[in-house]
Amino acid sequence: MSAIANPLPAVDIPASPDAAAPIVRVDQIYKSFGSNQVLKGVSFEVAKGEMIAIIGASGSGKSTALRCIDRLETVDSGSIEVAGIRVDDPEVDLHKLRREVGIVFQSYNLFPHLNVQENVMLALRHVKLQSKSDAQKVALEALAQVGLAEKAGAYPEQLSGGQQQRVAIARSLAMAPKVMLFDEVTSALDPQLTGEVLRVMEDLAAGGMTMLLVTHEMGFAKRVADRIIYMHQGRVWEVGPGSMLDHPQTPELKTFLAADM
Ligand code: ADP
Ligand code: MG
Repeated sequence: MSAIANPLPAVDIPASPDAAAPIVRVDQIYKSFGSNQVLKGVSFEVAKGEMIAIIGASGSGKSTALRCIDRLETVDSGSIEVAGIRVDDPEVDLHKLRREVGIVFQSYNLFPHLNVQENVMLALRHVKLQSKSDAQKVALEALAQVGLAEKAGAYPEQLSGGQQQRVAIARSLAMAPKVMLFDEVTSALDPQLTGEVLRVMEDLAAGGMTMLLVTHEMGFAKRVADRIIYMHQGRVWEVGPGSMLDHPQTPELKTFLAADM
């Protein structure tokens, strides 16, 4: 917008402290499995409403970093804060943390004996302690968000892989998390089904959801992510907007991108 088209005087509006605070703050985390040091001082922040894609070769520590944020792994040192919760605190309230963080994996792990709506309702009933009718309503809304309201009564085996993954996303979404983590959620899907899952994630990003995702879909990352983090051998190697993929600064990212072509 040009200055001429905007008649309002330029004033400094102080940002509210809340808007400035990142939803996720990862500070100098280290993690080893035995003698294998997997994370070597990883730091990054995810702002409210931001979508960050983590890319990098297999074994570079992407999944471990994501899992530390949801406390599926504990860090050896460094700190992690999510929505004001100190995740590295040994006394952290895991129930509270899991209400704020949704995580979706490559495997969708739906219960085969429950229909789609019941799968989405489970955590609402048992973690959020919602009444059956409330959980039914919230589950339907979440299914509508991923375009699957009409499949509420279907069973997982009646759905395609892409649809099952969308149910898994709805299951997380229904919990109204402050941030959603996605770990290679399309890696097991063929290209057509990958597209429908990426579209759901793009819609979520457009709707303002704060998202951190590990992906091999470079085109998607470049187009949709606000920022990209390239991890290499347990470190954040490069960070930047999507255009950084056109101008890699390090030989490592250059090599990684070339291998992906
Ligand atoms: P990426 O997601 O980038 O492929 P990971 O975080 O899964 O990388 O793995 C990084 C390294 O940590 C790998 O060498 C892997 O074998 C090791 N690792 C990951 N999880 C465990 C675990 N639970 N126990 C032992 N080693 C692990
Ligand atoms: Mg991984």
